Amino acid sequence: MRIVLLGPPGAGKGTQARRLSESTGMNHLSTGDMLRAEVAAGSELGLVAKGYMDKGELLPDSTIIAMIQQHLANPAGVLLDGFPRTVVQAESLDESLETANQPIDKIVHMSVDVDELVKRLSSRAICKDCQTPYNLVSDAPSKEGVCDKCGGEVIVRDDDKPEAVLNRMKVYEELTAPVLDYYKSRGDVAEIIATGSPDSVFEELSQAIGSGK
Ligand code: AMP
Repeated sequence: MRIVLLGPPGAGKGTQARRLSESTGMNHLSTGDMLRAEVAAGSELGLVAKGYMDKGELLPDSTIIAMIQQHLANPAGVLLDGFPRTVVQAESLDESLETANQPIDKIVHMSVDVDELVKRLSSRAICKDCQTPYNLVSDAPSKEGVCDKCGGEVIVRDDDKPEAVLNRMKVYEELTAPVLDYYKSRGDVAEIIATGSPDSVFEELSQAIGSGK
C-alpha cells in the first residue's frame, strides 16, 4: 500500500505515521526525519538542509526528489509524511509511481485549526536520536530532557521556535496547500479532523485507510 499523509506543520503527521508504520509494517518515509538525520551526521546535504530548515523554508524540489526517489519502491508499502510538499513534488511522485506501476492507494488530509497548531508547535519537543515526539505540556518525557524510548536527548527543534513557526505556516499556505487542491481535483482525498487525542485521531486514520487497527 502507498499512503500520502497531508496536513500543516503540527497536525500530527509524524506521530500518526509512526504508529501506523508500527501497526502495519509499512515503511514510514518522512523527508523531515531524513533531513534531520543528514544534519545530525554533518553530511554535505545536512549542511545545506540546516540553512533552509532553521528558517522554516523548503529545500529545492530537485534535492528532495533525488533524496526520496530510491525509497519509494518498497515492497512493504510506503507511508509518506512531509512529501510531497509542492505541486512539482506531487507531479514527480505521480510520474515515479506510474513508471513503477504502483499508484497511490490513499491520500489523507489531517486538518487542525491555526490557533491549535501554533499552541502545539510551541510546546513540541523531539528526541534527537530516535525522533520520538513529545508535548512538553501534555506528554513530557518522564525525566526532563531524556527520551523515554531510547535515552537520547529531547530537544525543541530550531524550526519549532516562534519565528520559524510563523514562516512555516506561510510557506504551507503558499506552496503546500495547493498540493491538497491538486489531489482534490482528482477527488480522492480522505479528510480527518485531527484535533482530538492521538488515540482518537489514530482510530479515524486507521478507518480512513481501511486498516481497521
Ligand atoms: P517536517 O519535519 O516534515 O516538518 O520538515 C522539517 C523541514 O524539513 C521543513 O520545514 C523543510 O525545511 C524541510 N523539508 C521536509 N520535507 C520537505 C519537502 N518535501 N520539500 C522541501 N523541504 C522539506
